[in-house]
Amino acid sequence: MKEEQLQKYAALVVKTGVNIQKNQTLVIMSPIECAEFTRLVTEAAYKEGAREVVIHWNDEISTKIKYLHGPDEIFDEVPNWQVESMASYSQAGACFLSISASDPDLMKEVDAKRISRAQKAKQLALREHTERLMSNKNSWCVVSVPTRAWASKIFPGLDAEEAVEKLWDKIFKIVRVDRYDPVAAWKEHTDILSSSMSLLNKYNFKKLHFTNSIGTDLVIELPKNHLWLGGAEKTSGGTEFIANIPTEEVFSAPKKDGVNGIVYSTKPLNYGGNLVNNFSLTFEDGKVVDFSAEEGYDTLKGIIETDEGSKYLGEVALVPYDSPISNSGIIFYNTLYDENASCHLALGRAYSSCIADGDEMSSEELMKAGINTSLAHVDFMIGSEDLNITGTTYGDEEIPVFRNGNWAFHL
Ligand code: ZN
Ligand code: ZN
Repeated sequence: MKEEQLQKYAALVVKTGVNIQKNQTLVIMSPIECAEFTRLVTEAAYKEGAREVVIHWNDEISTKIKYLHGPDEIFDEVPNWQVESMASYSQAGACFLSISASDPDLMKEVDAKRISRAQKAKQLALREHTERLMSNKNSWCVVSVPTRAWASKIFPGLDAEEAVEKLWDKIFKIVRVDRYDPVAAWKEHTDILSSSMSLLNKYNFKKLHFTNSIGTDLVIELPKNHLWLGGAEKTSGGTEFIANIPTEEVFSAPKKDGVNGIVYSTKPLNYGGNLVNNFSLTFEDGKVVDFSAEEGYDTLKGIIETDEGSKYLGEVALVPYDSPISNSGIIFYNTLYDENASCHLALGRAYSSCIADGDEMSSEELMKAGINTSLAHVDFMIGSEDLNITGTTYGDEEIPVFRNGNWAFHL
């Protein structure tokens, strides 16, 4: 039973996720602990006609040892061969799969500054590659696979093996591989997402006002010619792919200098093995002018101070409170899962496809259009069961978008 679902999951990732084409190379970033699943993906990719599957293995425990004992200067460096490796594969038209499965408590004893420096160095070195992916030049996908440490954080009462099995069970349901034909189930799901997307695009809101009882009171203006996206996307070459499995969101880009008010987080944020919890951000003309955090203040500070753009928003995403991952009632401590259970925002770079013709625009043109650019893109969750969102149209009509955490429209 499990073997069959694992194979369906691997096939789903290859066909529906990155949607590998004949003779295309697939590059996989995988934790060594997920090797069993990564091998299934490798096999599925060759069966679909992959030219070559290249795997970059990582091991979070050795990474932690490096953070604890390495000399200080290495946290600002990224070796050239790493940059060249990604650049050469993406220029050659490869597709990219990341397996996200980190221990949320891994870096507790590590100096938060080392982590933010290393993240920034990596973001800077891989900027070109990231920009290619964020403007859909190549197809890419992020998925998750249980590891012992991650599963134990979610289900602390169970022993590690049981926790892993339980998490597999949840993941299989959420990514729809418990269905007879997951690829068809995903087609149906992305059609539903595209109906909410079309409706928002039709309203063409000038701004959205978010409020809830924990204190969120935030107005987000949207740039002219913004687009809402969700579900499947297309590469510039016309290949349809799904960048996140699971995905439950429709999203767009805020107007960089058009965000005002305060927003409170509603789920913990796992940033590179450090948790930021119960935090708030205050915005004036788009910029974060104040912030607080009950846990992980230094990590949040590191994110905000990455560069100029990381002080501004780059994504606004809507996910109903009544949706499959949210209804599981589980806090996953993993952004891929938690952001698809909750309305969320991201600090940093926006997806250029969120504005008409944005994928073809230069950074300068994007900035002129009100689209944020940055080295960072960090999602954080703000949805709650009492979240209200009201849209204002260009005709100054106020339209309820969310009431009590869910769509106010009948879709
Ligand atoms: Zn999102
Ligand atoms: Zn995002």
